[in-house]
Amino acid sequence: MHELSIASSIVKTVLEEVKNRNLKTVTLVSMRIGALTDVVPDSLQFGFEAITKDTILAKTDLHIETISVKGCCNNCQHNFEVFEFVFICPNCESNDIKMSHGNELEIAYIEAED
Ligand SMILES: [Zn+2]
Repeated sequence: MHELSIASSIVKTVLEEVKNRNLKTVTLVSMRIGALTDVVPDSLQFGFEAITKDTILAKTDLHIETISVKGCCNNCQHNFEVFEFVFICPNCESNDIKMSHGNELEIAYIEAED
């Protein structure tokens, strides 16, 4: 499962952070996940809970913010939100589009107790 390996790398990163910053526990992990990634938030949540069950992160909440897909037109520099994966500029109808958002898969921040 794709999400399980992502969850496991999140947990690894957070545990390293706990060690480096000498934290007691982490209360919240906030993720930013772009709509272009094929990550299913519910599956990621499930994987995170399964992996952290017997760790100090057992009570840590995972918050997932979905980032919508945005593009910038290389022809007219128009910025727009992409719906239904239609990568065409609504302003000039060019298909020369550069993605500016939607591929995010990162930890935005963590909240911890020290
Ligand atoms: Zn355009």
